[in-house]
Amino acid sequence: MIDYQAILNTINSQAATSSDRGDVASYIPELSKIDKNKFGIHLINAEKLEFSSGDFQEVFSIQSISKVLSLSLAFSLIGDELWSRVDVEPSGDPFNHLSLLELENGIPRNPLINAGAIVVADVLLSNLKNPKEDFLNYVRKITNDTSINFDLTITDSEKKTGFRNIAAANLLKSYNNLQNDVDTVLDFYFHQCAIQMNCQQLTKAFFMFMNGGKCMQEQTYLTTSQIKRINALMLTCGFYDEAGEFAFEVGLPGKSGVGGGIVALLPNKFCVATWSPGLNKKGNSKLGMEALEKLTTATGQSIF
Ligand code: GLU
Repeated sequence: MIDYQAILNTINSQAATSSDRGDVASYIPELSKIDKNKFGIHLINAEKLEFSSGDFQEVFSIQSISKVLSLSLAFSLIGDELWSRVDVEPSGDPFNHLSLLELENGIPRNPLINAGAIVVADVLLSNLKNPKEDFLNYVRKITNDTSINFDLTITDSEKKTGFRNIAAANLLKSYNNLQNDVDTVLDFYFHQCAIQMNCQQLTKAFFMFMNGGKCMQEQTYLTTSQIKRINALMLTCGFYDEAGEFAFEVGLPGKSGVGGGIVALLPNKFCVATWSPGLNKKGNSKLGMEALEKLTTATGQSIF
């Protein structure tokens, strides 16, 4: 039996003494104020046993991690029709890149870059009765936790500074790849990115991607084939222009956000989340990536 608890304790104490923690995201003041000495890790295995260390119960802004959750709800609502609106190729570019969108006639390269997630937000707006409430309830339901919420201060700041997202949405609209108006789509997108969760809640939300589509409460949300596709997208597109490096170092499908969170999973084995707000040059949590490399090396468990 692998002693996950001992491994997480070692990872946490090594993180505590790390002198190079990266830089906290600074594009909005709310994120730049977060203490970069924070570090948390939580792992849940297929038997639902939980292991944790550090600040694993402190909530943070999940940011781009939300793109996997919006994608999974949209995919369950409209199925493969989704792929006529957004492609499934890695971009090798930063999250907010626009040139590929222009080249490919308004079809974003994949659903985990901003332009793709904005199209997914549009799909949800066209298919949900009360989009923001319904999406939040979906996240609460798969996590089995009603305390999850939006941080509206972050939403407002994103609105004031989201010039590239506004540009991406307008470009998508010009190619007729948004059905709803630009402001409504962006309002939804900025809300989804501003959901606050902690490492423990994230592993529970992502349990279904590890567990063939069944959440912690054994309710089925996605088919095994849909789970295969979403995990493939996380592996190839989940880490901005560092997806190759993450696969190379860690070897798990996952998703990061500029709030410093990372969630990753090994199908049928475990789901793990880390939080450390300092980011590396590519925008991924520096200590989070190092922690996950140590986890898969120490356990010998990765998809490879
Ligand atoms: N809300 C951020 C944006 O759209 C998300 C960034 C991220 O976590 O990648 O710019």
